[in-house]
Amino acid sequence: MASKIQLIAGLSYIDAELQYLQEEFGDLPEQVQEKKENAEKALTLVNETEGILKDIRDFVATAKVTLVELKEKEDTLTKQQFMSRNNKEFDAVTKEVEFLKQEHERLSTRMRTEGVKEENILRILEDQKKEYQAALDDYEKINSEYEDISAEQGSEVKKLIDKRKLIIASLPADAYAEYSRIKQFHSEAAVRVKKNSCTGCYSAVPSQKIVELRNNFEKIYTCENCGRMLIPEEIEMNENLLDI
Ligand SMILES: [Zn+2]
Repeated sequence: MASKIQLIAGLSYIDAELQYLQEEFGDLPEQVQEKKENAEKALTLVNETEGILKDIRDFVATAKVTLVELKEKEDTLTKQQFMSRNNKEFDAVTKEVEFLKQEHERLSTRMRTEGVKEENILRILEDQKKEYQAALDDYEKINSEYEDISAEQGSEVKKLIDKRKLIIASLPADAYAEYSRIKQFHSEAAVRVKKNSCTGCYSAVPSQKIVELRNNFEKIYTCENCGRMLIPEEIEMNENLLDI
């Protein structure tokens, strides 16, 4: 069975490998997110503009019906006008016809304005759709780069993560908790001793501690200067650690 310090060394090796693989992505994850948000914003604009366009078209459709109705009412009243029994009735109908004519005129003017508005909105919409398409192309391009790297790394990352789980399961909980705590401050929580120095901060490790370190693989020693866990020089940090 692997010693505590071998398990820690294996964990540290895996974490360094995972970090190395993660670094291969560079700023791609941020770029993917940024391009995705750009495309979403562009789509929101297109949807808003389409909403405005629909309102205009609904208005025009309703107005067309209303104009016909106004005209019919006007015609009916004009006929009635000449059947008026007295001046008072004649004046009342005339007033009403006048009102209908004004309404007709007002609505016709509004329709013409809306027509111009529709043309402008259509132009804006066309530009916005082009911008959305461009933003979408940008996003898809960068996302496929990201997915290519993910696919390439896939089995390797899975192997490392599976092994990491096995190591954690074998490692006493307090040792893993301590490793995780140190990892919050240092990306490499456990480092090798080399030439009697901590390779995390390069400060010297007292020779007495080095002797103890070599003779007790079940005890975890930390660097007095930086607090990282110390791995004896005898343990190579390579993929052999994946076999423990
Ligand atoms: Zn150190």
